[in-house]
Amino acid sequence: MSVQPQRPAFGTVLASHMAVAQYQDGQWGEHQIKPVGPIEISPAAHVLHYASTCFEGFKAFRWKDGSVHVFRMDRHIARMLNSAHQLVLPEPDAGQLATMVKAVIARCREAVPEAPGALYLRPILFGTTANIGAAATPPGEATLLVLASPVWDYFAGGMKPLRILVDDQNTRCAAHLGMVKTGGNYAAAMGPTLAARAKYQADQVLFCPGGQVQETGAANFLLIRDGQLLTRGLDTTFLHGVTRDSLLTLARDAGYAVTERVFDVGEMLEWVKGGEAALSGTAAVLAGVGTLIHRGQEFRVGNGQVGPLTQALRAQLVSIQQGESKDRHGWLERV
Ligand SMILES: *Cc1c(COP(=O)(O)O)cnc(C)c1O
Repeated sequence: MSVQPQRPAFGTVLASHMAVAQYQDGQWGEHQIKPVGPIEISPAAHVLHYASTCFEGFKAFRWKDGSVHVFRMDRHIARMLNSAHQLVLPEPDAGQLATMVKAVIARCREAVPEAPGALYLRPILFGTTANIGAAATPPGEATLLVLASPVWDYFAGGMKPLRILVDDQNTRCAAHLGMVKTGGNYAAAMGPTLAARAKYQADQVLFCPGGQVQETGAANFLLIRDGQLLTRGLDTTFLHGVTRDSLLTLARDAGYAVTERVFDVGEMLEWVKGGEAALSGTAAVLAGVGTLIHRGQEFRVGNGQVGPLTQALRAQLVSIQQGESKDRHGWLERV
């Protein structure tokens, strides 16, 4: 048996350089590439008081031939622009943001790990106007920053089936901001998630306000069974995952009947008697659910293990990302 080297946890290592641009006097300035280090910000900065911030997360992959390819960057940038718009933050210029991402990858090319690792890219945008009386005034000044972080195999310790608390009492965030990737939404989900961990040893909370299944704190929720996939239809209440969209596309290609609509907890509990459930997102791609906990009762998903359809769908997307299967949808860009 080979012993895997111990790798740092997801997100704990930063690549050496970042890109930074500032918005002032109604326009974005040119970006700079800098060594990663502390940034100067006023203690009265808008973001520190009123949470005017949003971010993105996506990956660049090193293929076997050494080339580096970024996955669906256009979609992530479009989502960032939409997040900025919803938060009334100065919108980044899509072209400039793409240039900044590529500049960081170029500067940190050596830091892109081999598969199954990747370079995780994390653009952030935040309001910097110094005014503690601006609770109802959007910031006129902002910073756009691109960080990169080498990440390794998410499932290095094996694919453990997740325990998920089904919560029909709390909401993850404000219903009009669910589709916005903004810090405050994670702060709002933190309390319920930690409580679920302590009380039920749950890995995550599946938020189901009004009994309608939504998503967990940082991943979309999919139900899968032979030839069928069910997930909530796009609305403002949850994050429109690029991984979700990619997996749905692959499922349709494979002949699955893919349904996007509202469904409730009862229907989900019926489904998982013989079907599968999984969480989708950039970090893990697709993670299988083994147990749902609802009102103190445990429901086994299928046989309680990570299901074969979940594993196959995940393997298919990973193989495209790593250049081992044909990229039929033009999702990867060589950088
Ligand atoms: C980022 C995120 C996801 C997953 O989105 P991907 O584009 O697939 O990475 C899902 N839900 C929430 C709340 C998120 O923040």
